[in-house]
Parts: sequence; structure tokens; C-alpha cells
Amino acid sequence: MQKNSFSLSLPEDNKLLTIKNWIADNKGCFQFAIKETICRKWDKWHQFKATPYPCVCTQRDKYCIELELYYELQRVVEICEQGTYFEQAIEKFNSINKHDKNAVCSWVKKYKMVGRKLFFSSTITILCNAEENNKLIIQLNPDEFDAVIRFHEIFNTVYYSEEFQTNFNQ
Ligand SMILES: [Zn+2]
Repeated sequence: MQKNSFSLSLPEDNKLLTIKNWIADNKGCFQFAIKETICRKWDKWHQFKATPYPCVCTQRDKYCIELELYYELQRVVEICEQGTYFEQAIEKFNSINKHDKNAVCSWVKKYKMVGRKLFFSSTITILCNAEENNKLIIQLNPDEFDAVIRFHEIFNTVYYSEEFQTNFNQ
């Protein structure tokens, strides 16, 4: 892979290990693309860790699209690396007597910061061209994200329950 150009080549398969290697291999291209793209949000993300907002480019240049792909895949790897954290959270939840509303709500409060910010889907969709509705879709293997998916389900079920929202979320 040349370091002075960025050409869209997807990971060979959608296994997490392949994606991790792809991220490492494309680091040079990624830095190149940040300098080249007209979309400034990537530089803000790279330098200041600012979460990129949805793209407002009228016509996305290829660097912007590729950077989004890189960003999304990197995010997925980061989330997956916290697998143990999510496993532990689930274990704690499972050990709670579910009739003990206070205990259930303490659990949710403990994981509120993480749970509310967590956005994860095993399908990554990148809109390349809005007019043509041209999309790049990457389907990950949900088995590799089992803990994250289960944690998110539990968290959302309790957090968005009427009981929690009415009595505890103040
Ligand atoms: Zn853009």
C-alpha cells in the first residue's frame, strides 16, 4: 500500500482481526487523506478528538468517504476491545435481584455515561453519494461483538423503561 495516496480498498473480510490489521496498514494513507480532503471535520477529529458530525459536503470527495470508513472501523475496534468491561457489567447485572428496583437503577446509573453514548450496529453504512443513493455497506460478524450487543440491550431496556425515566432519572 502506497503511503502517498489513499485508494479505497476494503478489508479482505469482515473479521475483527482483519479489520485491525487494515487499520494499522492504512495509517499512512489516513494521515494523507486528512490533509487532502476538503472536509475539515476529520482534522478536528484527528487533532482534538472531536466527534465528526454527519457529512455536509455537497459532493463528498473520495478522501472524506475513505476517512469515514477508517473512522467507523477504528471505532468498532475500540468498542470491541472493551469487551471485558461489558462482560463484567453484564455479570454484575445478572447477579442483581431484579425485584430490587434500587439495585437495578444503581446499575444503570453506574453505566449511564457509557450506555447513553454507546452507538453500535454490526452493519456500517457509509453514504457515498446522496443523489445516487450510493452506499458502502459493511456487515460485521455480530458474534465478535456479543458482549457489546448484550450490554446495550440490557442497558436500553432498563434505561428507557418508564419506571427508570419517571422515578430515577433526575
Ligand atoms: Zn465530508
